[in-house]
Amino acid sequence: MKKIAILGSTGSIGTQTLEVVRENRDIEVTALAAGSNIKLLEEQIREFHPMLVAVWSEEKAKELKENIKDLDVKVVSGMEGLIEVAICKDTSILVTAIVGMIGIRPTIAAIEAGKDIALANKETLVTAGHLIMPLAREKKVRILPVDSEHSAIFQSLQGGQEKSIQKILLTASGGPFRGKKLHELKDIQVEDALKHPNWEMGRKITIDSSTMVNKGLEVIEAKWLFDVDVDDVQVVVQPQSVIHSMVEYNDGAVIAQLGTPDMKLPIQYALYYPERRYLPGERLDFWKISKLTFEQPDMETFYGLKLAYEAGRRGGSLPTVMNAANERAVSMFLERRIAYLDIPGIIKECMDAHKNIPNPTLEEILRAEQETYERIESRW
Ligand code: NDP
Repeated sequence: MKKIAILGSTGSIGTQTLEVVRENRDIEVTALAAGSNIKLLEEQIREFHPMLVAVWSEEKAKELKENIKDLDVKVVSGMEGLIEVAICKDTSILVTAIVGMIGIRPTIAAIEAGKDIALANKETLVTAGHLIMPLAREKKVRILPVDSEHSAIFQSLQGGQEKSIQKILLTASGGPFRGKKLHELKDIQVEDALKHPNWEMGRKITIDSSTMVNKGLEVIEAKWLFDVDVDDVQVVVQPQSVIHSMVEYNDGAVIAQLGTPDMKLPIQYALYYPERRYLPGERLDFWKISKLTFEQPDMETFYGLKLAYEAGRRGGSLPTVMNAANERAVSMFLERRIAYLDIPGIIKECMDAHKNIPNPTLEEILRAEQETYERIESRW
């Protein structure tokens, strides 16, 4: 019996992870963590019987405790609570499906405790990859990608050798504004940006997909997961989202993973790796897919992607600033406090103002994050 804990169980990845658990019947859920959605969390507790749950807000944690007093479940809160879930006894795999840099400390704690990580929370690797990957190697912990593109790369690497990778071809749908120019994006509203053409995801990643900052975060995520330079990761726009990513080997062979857009496939693959299990659902019908098309990304319009490449190339604390500025700008856009094009504008301004720290410690990363938030607060 596999035993898993989930950070962010009430979100898009979290609920789909629980669907995989429900369909397979041989995974035990030891612990769950959520931000504030205690209604859904309670339903999950009653169905999956974890021994421990964390709720970020202390007040909501108290409310949940009262609501489930008939059950023998420990309820914790705050960062300490997240860490307690991350290192929960008996867990073998921690699914990091929380959104944002808040995932760094629990992920590090879980690795230190020897838990394998099924990683969806890309912001953690983008900002602290230089700490996480060596620690995982030292602790002999596996970092199994859940992001569909990175899972596709990981799958394309099975049977191949990482040292013979020529480059990684990271595919992108191009988002809802593919083909548009900068001046056409000026009046984009929250509702427009939340309409992804192919995937249904949480709000933050959906906005990130529309600006292509998500692809930039994925380029840096790939650098850490597969030990390549960011310039060996080439973004290829593939609007139908059929090819989930590819690897080009040094003999010129290109190996790809294709499929319907269903996150349960990469989630299930990470949980059972190296086993492949039956997964119900739609299959690709190549008689019906009349064509697959490819384009170069427009990095002048979607210059958040170009900024991410720059952050990934220069490394140090710059990816933290890029990511923190994006996190804050996206939430301000969702609150309708700034315009759509302010998102890459804020990222650029914060990156330009930052004095890069090479090889930052965890404390320096968290300080760079805080300073970025303070800069944004004082300017916008
Ligand atoms: P959602 O917004 O749908 O879910 C986020 C989850 O994190 C929720 O369970 C939320 O709880 C929880 N959470 C947020 N803040 C806190 C906090 N302070 N403490 C505890 N829990 C918290 O996000 P997604 O599932 O879309 O994305 C999660 C991660 O996976 C992101 O890093 C994203 O980039 C990545 N990813 C997502 C994909 C997708 O298809 N959705 C694809 C590939 C990667 P609550 O609901 O209670 O607020």
